[in-house]
Amino acid sequence: MELLAKLQTQLDDLEARSLIRKRRTVETPCGPRLRVDGRDMLCFSSNDYLSLAGHPRVAEALREGVSLYGAGSGASHLISGHSRAHAELEERLADFVGPYLESPRALYFCTGYMANLGVLNGLAAGDKNTEIFSESLNHASLIDGARLSRTALKVYPHADVAALAVLLADSTATNKIVVTDSVFSMDGDLAPLPELLALCERHGAWLVVDDAHGFGTLGESGRGALEHFDLRSPHLVYMGTLGKAAGVGGAFVAAHKVVIETLIQKSRPYIFTTGAPPALAHALLASVDIIAGDEGRERRAHLQALVGQMERGLQLERWRLLPSRTAIQPVVIGENAETMRAATALYAQGLWVGGIRPPTVPVGTARLRVALAAGHTAAEVGQLIAALNALERTNHES
Ligand code: PMP
Repeated sequence: MELLAKLQTQLDDLEARSLIRKRRTVETPCGPRLRVDGRDMLCFSSNDYLSLAGHPRVAEALREGVSLYGAGSGASHLISGHSRAHAELEERLADFVGPYLESPRALYFCTGYMANLGVLNGLAAGDKNTEIFSESLNHASLIDGARLSRTALKVYPHADVAALAVLLADSTATNKIVVTDSVFSMDGDLAPLPELLALCERHGAWLVVDDAHGFGTLGESGRGALEHFDLRSPHLVYMGTLGKAAGVGGAFVAAHKVVIETLIQKSRPYIFTTGAPPALAHALLASVDIIAGDEGRERRAHLQALVGQMERGLQLERWRLLPSRTAIQPVVIGENAETMRAATALYAQGLWVGGIRPPTVPVGTARLRVALAAGHTAAEVGQLIAALNALERTNHES
């Protein structure tokens, strides 16, 4: 078959199975209230949990970063693309999450996806006898990271510490890496990190924590999952993304300085790419200040109040709000068609909530992924709750 025709057939097949994904065009700064394709919408689909992406102080710091450092870095970090802004951000982040690590150092990556590829690639690179143990609901980037590293990969069932214990006990690998999301992005629940860390310590394994959805939102001062659980170990490797709660972009890995130096020397996704624009790192210094300060604390407290409001306000019979205490508040509907009908009906009311289907979630558990943000008002969340309550009663009749 002709090359383009073959691709078109694959696209037609996705369309026929209602699996084509459409992009919508946002015309305003990211935030709880958006103009999308010419319409005013309330956004419950972004990961901008603290509503910092449109924060005037962060935007001003980005402008200042451009005037200090220009538009781009011009090269990879090991050539000439490592700027003072990158170095300052790395120092700030190492200080911020450092209390939970030993001899901490941090490394800024262009995206969380690349940071995850980079950590696994870097940790595996030193040792051919490596085995990676990955939680079943982990983000795609961790799975891809294991593949890039060409190491053996074992998947343990969601939150099943006992199953992981058996796998670790059976393993003869000399370099064991356990890797888990801290907050599961489609369920909103937390990994049992204290138990996982204890197990890793017993088996001499690394624990790599992907805190994409926890950094900035979890912990008294926003330091994320390590602060929330008060975890401490020289064998912890922490990854936090900076395009979600921090509102800008990129990600960082914080760990013992020997781990970070190993990544700088060996991690292909770190070495072989142009450094992120330094202005982003400069803007992130402002984000981290907000997260760590009183304003961050207030934003997290408001977000928690909104989480409580969802739990109290939703009165669902067939649909089910998952028991999440995080900003991710999934409403499981089950059927794909009913889920997409609900998402479309909400959109028609000006409420933008993502409908999530398999293979992103298991078959029969399609859901609305409600993502709350500190910039939402209680009245706006009330509007969403009322719409969901009403929709559950009408949707199955249509
Ligand atoms: N890890 C998790 C758990 C994520 O949800 C995401 C992004 N959705 C990433 C990593 C990747 O981060 P980034 O978007 O910065 O590439």
